Amino acid sequence: MVGNPFLITYFPFAMSSNNNRRVRVRFAPSPTGALHIGGVRTALYNYLFARQHGGDFILRIEDTDSQRFVPGAEEYIMKSLKWCGIHVDEGIEEGGPHAPYRQSERKEIYLKYAQQLVASGNAYYAFDTADELNALRAKAEAEGKTFAYDSTVRNSLQTSLALPADEVSARIARGDVWVIRFKMPENEDVQMDDLIRGHISINTSTLDDKVLYKSVDSLPTYHLANIVDDHLMEISHVIRGEEWLPSLPLHYLLYRAFGWQRPDFAHLPLLLKPQGQGKLSKRDGDKFGFPVFPLEWHAPDGTVAMGYREEGYLPQAFINMLALLGWNPGTEQELFSIDELINAFSLEHVSKSGARFNHDKAKWFNAQYLRQTDDNTLAQMVMPIHQQMGINATLQRTAEAISLIKERATFPKDLAELTQKMFCAPAVYDEKSVSKFWKEDNVARLRELREILAAEEVIDPLQTEQKVHAWIVDKGYSMGQIMNTLRIAIWGISQGPSIFHICAFIGKDETLSRIDSALQKL
Ligand code: GLU
Repeated sequence: MVGNPFLITYFPFAMSSNNNRRVRVRFAPSPTGALHIGGVRTALYNYLFARQHGGDFILRIEDTDSQRFVPGAEEYIMKSLKWCGIHVDEGIEEGGPHAPYRQSERKEIYLKYAQQLVASGNAYYAFDTADELNALRAKAEAEGKTFAYDSTVRNSLQTSLALPADEVSARIARGDVWVIRFKMPENEDVQMDDLIRGHISINTSTLDDKVLYKSVDSLPTYHLANIVDDHLMEISHVIRGEEWLPSLPLHYLLYRAFGWQRPDFAHLPLLLKPQGQGKLSKRDGDKFGFPVFPLEWHAPDGTVAMGYREEGYLPQAFINMLALLGWNPGTEQELFSIDELINAFSLEHVSKSGARFNHDKAKWFNAQYLRQTDDNTLAQMVMPIHQQMGINATLQRTAEAISLIKERATFPKDLAELTQKMFCAPAVYDEKSVSKFWKEDNVARLRELREILAAEEVIDPLQTEQKVHAWIVDKGYSMGQIMNTLRIAIWGISQGPSIFHICAFIGKDETLSRIDSALQKL
């Protein structure tokens, strides 16, 4: 990528759409590792846009850079999208009218397009070897300059523009290594429109002659394959990360050179680190202690990076959180189901500036969605955790227990921990609570209270509570002192959910037994 960002001028007006085509968008990741949450957000915005317009969402794997290929990355991308509920209409698993959707399987397609550009004078062959190019770079550096393969050198280096036509053919025929480069027009202001950033103009004098195709591996580079495939796959809108903005002038010029209708472009703002300093990177997860990947990633080198799924995030919460990182609905609403997002989403409300990742907000979303999830579903998530803790409660009992403490949890593992004491008597008692409330007087009151509870046929959360409260008032005792002493006996600590609900849940016998063992142990 070239392009000096300081030379780009933005005119945030007059966004023209060249488009009244059927909406077809694509997510086009390169399988170079785990899919970062920034990539998931790009996929999500494309998906929302497609669904809103009744269009198609395509997954295309851009794997023409074999050096950067990472085994397992492609499967990881597809699994991640599935977990998020982002459904692909056309892709390597789904198939579709433009299959194959993996660029390495489309290899034969690209050469003729590169040659077409040579024939029309928009591209040329270059025969410079890697050593020769390195020497040119070193020489420029020694002179305090940066070497650029552009209009200043293309007519004097070993190119089809400089060499006689028969020599060019002879070199190709004898198998010399060559590339095809784009012939960047000289000193032209490229006028571009971006649906998020508005009008952009850049002068081609800042751009070099990018390689489009390489004979060495018979593969196109990203730029050529991307444009050719977007054209062949009838992509109407390209929605992608801001890091591709410097490539936009070249892409505009490639469309013009081919004489093809251009899609509309929208470049999404970066996801920033929590402090707002710089792009959220793949390494930031380890650094800040939150996941930057949707699913746990087992890298080929054996390292494991944490994932939202494994941390206990619900996919709906994750998606809702991501949707609002860079887009706002223009209202105060924060909780959106996927259908609501499809309705509300618009590129006009995507911000131009980077969106700062906020881990606390991510947790907040999860807590909200956890509350909205029905108790049986939550019980299914909690039971395997309980089993590891040695608790084997039924689904129904687990669900009931969860309903009592749901509001206090962020993750399923919190639910498991919070409900643990509903199934096992406290093993330890909180020291602070004990020293504050476990006093002679209070303990004597607890013995009296035990008898009231023992006289109940069953413990009812409301009626028993009323009875106990009436007794406390009648005797002129302190409500707080007695309730907290009871709480220590039952729950091990003086804070917690409604104590009579817990007593009712664990039952009369267990309630009395917990009081007895606290009276004994403390
Ligand atoms: N393969 C590119 C990537 O990895 C796609 C960029 C684009 O969407 O044009 O992000």
